[in-house]
Amino acid sequence: MTVLASGSKGNATVIVAGSTRILVDAGVSCRELMKRMVQVGEDPEALDAILITHEHVDHVTGLSVLARRLKIPVFFTESTHRAWVRMVTPRSTMSYAKWLERVQREKEARAEAVAAQGAEWSHPGLETRDAGHADLALAAAADLSVAVDEEVVAPKVKADPAFLPAVEYFRAGHGFSIGEIDISPFTIPHDAADPCGFVFHARSESIRMGIATDLGYVPPNVKMALKGLDVLLLESNHDLEMLKDGPYPWSVKQRVLSRVGHLSNAAAAEFLLRDYDGGAHTIVLGHLSAKNNLPELARLAAEEAIGERMGLLGNRVLLAAQDVPLEPISL
Ligand SMILES: [Zn+2]
Ligand SMILES: [Zn+2]
Repeated sequence: MTVLASGSKGNATVIVAGSTRILVDAGVSCRELMKRMVQVGEDPEALDAILITHEHVDHVTGLSVLARRLKIPVFFTESTHRAWVRMVTPRSTMSYAKWLERVQREKEARAEAVAAQGAEWSHPGLETRDAGHADLALAAAADLSVAVDEEVVAPKVKADPAFLPAVEYFRAGHGFSIGEIDISPFTIPHDAADPCGFVFHARSESIRMGIATDLGYVPPNVKMALKGLDVLLLESNHDLEMLKDGPYPWSVKQRVLSRVGHLSNAAAAEFLLRDYDGGAHTIVLGHLSAKNNLPELARLAAEEAIGERMGLLGNRVLLAAQDVPLEPISL
């Protein structure tokens, strides 16, 4: 597992087993993702698929550009895909007043065109023109108006912003495989269409890696899913006191603190103390808030919770960062 970026400004993690490479979320630009992959010695061109946890911007920013560039499939739940399509498709509806204004403008343009044609035809030398000439003038004007119409009605067809080379659907609670990796998606409580966490099982090496970020609390199904892991990327978003005293507006504080918001250092520690089975080689704390947390506070809370289990079987604690990739965790 290599965490390329983690935090509210963008998330992306590479999971590798054997010859299979999966990118989980593409929350920074395509350029930045590729740059960071190269930095940690991964070849972006070797990615097999992109897996999306949920449609929030910090998880999909670079998605379409990267998927198109690498021509690889993107795995979503159907609801997440729909929400993403809605998000990236600009609204094309026009108010009635706007529409009326446009029609009026077009009418005036046509009238001007007709008038201009008429002026040409009424050149002194052509004063004796007959009805046939008048018809010609009208026909010419009509041609012109058609040209104007076409320009307005058929603008250049813009590329579909929701286009992806291939889309695959999965459902929470239903396992599926990509290459040598078995994937178990599980539902997480978060304010998105159909947010998921994942457990990855590297079949040949019998190694299990889990990702659980962007969750308001740790419900029983998540506790169950996170058993028997070798590597766990766990959210440790905010320090409660810093959040309460911090710069966020009240409504945002309420959202972060809610049951569908983000996991606090205390809630992550509570999970590590009471529910975590202690068997992981490495625990990565991620999605740390830049404004409402300090890496030392997150680490302290987690290490206290893990307590004496640290160092025996591993249980080392790493902190994922927003701006630089974390060293690859290899087992
Ligand atoms: Zn989110
Ligand atoms: Zn997020």
